[in-house]
Amino acid sequence: MKTIRTPDEMATLLAPPSGDAPMAHVVTPGAIDVTHGTILYLEDVSVSFDGFRALNSLSLTLDAGELRCVIGPNGAGKTTMMDVITGRTRPDHGRVFLGQTLDLTRMDEPAIARAGIGRKFQKPTVFEQHPVWENLELAMKTDKRWHATLRARLTRDAAASIEETLATIGLAQQAWRPAGELSHGQKQRLEIGMLLMQQPALLLLDEPAAGMTDDETMALAALLDRLRGTCSMIVVEHDMEFVAALAGAHGRVTVMAEGRVLAQGTLDEVKRDEAVVESYLGR
Ligand code: ADP
Ligand code: MG
Repeated sequence: MKTIRTPDEMATLLAPPSGDAPMAHVVTPGAIDVTHGTILYLEDVSVSFDGFRALNSLSLTLDAGELRCVIGPNGAGKTTMMDVITGRTRPDHGRVFLGQTLDLTRMDEPAIARAGIGRKFQKPTVFEQHPVWENLELAMKTDKRWHATLRARLTRDAAASIEETLATIGLAQQAWRPAGELSHGQKQRLEIGMLLMQQPALLLLDEPAAGMTDDETMALAALLDRLRGTCSMIVVEHDMEFVAALAGAHGRVTVMAEGRVLAQGTLDEVKRDEAVVESYLGR
């Protein structure tokens, strides 16, 4: 186990290496071409498992900067869609593009992550014995773009970035607590913070509010709201209050069923959609 450092010890560690050139840009933004205002394209995507169509000609686009909520019954293909976007599952058919130019079906998982897609799975996976701060530090170090400039010590830019992320995820007061002591909701926010350290252009969150208390759920909604505009997001969720908080009156909500888009529109619009009521909400 690593030793727990105090803020003062960190400050010493953070002093810039003497004689080194200043760090102009630690992180170079990915080359995602969003000139058409669209960050993600899924077109006619199909995935079969032993003849069962988990995705059945799914088409969906996401605007750059958009926060899209995706709802739908169990087995609708929501997680499979994320598997396809992140390169974990290869589609049998269809096109998947990040921006205009990056064909995700031709990239492997690490390349897709490097291109700027971060994914949050249902269960939080944090380093329990390490303080919150170090979790963020470790997340940054696994990012090659930081790694090239980090060497053995943290730079000031990196520390500033950690501080900023701590504030964003509402864990500044918990910075030196072992992550294992955090509540479930705090762990979920920490894991989102770890993804943010890699400066994703697109964040995929699969049922992030599952198992949270009402207060934790609302804290998560507030966090995602703060991220609005800094990255595009797809949030798969069952909790309709959470979806309502994220989508507001005008946000687009996608309803998936049987491997494709059943309906899309504002939350009010899709709630009134007959097919949606029949296949999902009405049950
Ligand atoms: P959702 O996330 O909307 O609940 P999933 O994408 O997890 O739906 O699953 C869609 C369907 O595909 C389900 O019927 C599921 O059993 C099936 N499925 C998903 N992944 C696999 C897999 N790796 N092998 C076989 N079947 C799978
Ligand atoms: Mg799922």
